[in-house]
Amino acid sequence: MARFSPLEWPVLRQLRSNDKFGRGDAVMSQKSRDKTPRTATADRVVQSVCPFCAVGCGQKVFVKDEKVIQIEGDPDSPISRGRLCPKGSASEQLVNSATRQTEILYRAPRSREWQPLSLDTAIDMIADRFLDARKKWWQDVDEQGRALRRTMGIAALGGATLDNEENYLIKKLFTAAGAIQIENQARI
Ligand code: SF4
Repeated sequence: MARFSPLEWPVLRQLRSNDKFGRGDAVMSQKSRDKTPRTATADRVVQSVCPFCAVGCGQKVFVKDEKVIQIEGDPDSPISRGRLCPKGSASEQLVNSATRQTEILYRAPRSREWQPLSLDTAIDMIADRFLDARKKWWQDVDEQGRALRRTMGIAALGGATLDNEENYLIKKLFTAAGAIQIENQARI
């Protein structure tokens, strides 16, 4: 380990250098100086939009070896002008978090345990429940005989990480099925 020189004491560095207010080089250790930002080593940068809420801040997605390594605010965005809130700044974890859930888990009624399910099984279970609830709560006409042709048994609440195409398909599917409560977190 290199010996510490008293001249390297930050307040002395501050006085000896032009960094009188201690906002730059004077307060930077050699370890910090030696670091290279991830953004400098990226193979390419892709402009995108934060998926978390309806503000739609611009993002720059830094890619290395075909993997997302960093996400920063995009100064070209007329909406956010380079800024991201803490959620948008952390959106790289949407892709890279070690705790990201990647398998389907199901907890049966009154069970304390989660069990993994295959995608096909899960889709069949959802489709069965969707059709049952639709039929059970179907309203063809109101008490005066006026046409309703709707179901009160199903509703949709989308998350803001759904994209335009997903939301379009969800709206189309649920409306065609007769649902009338179709909402999205970004609008709430
Ligand atoms: S979550 Fe934050 S960064 Fe993302 S669009 Fe909304 S305000 Fe912008």
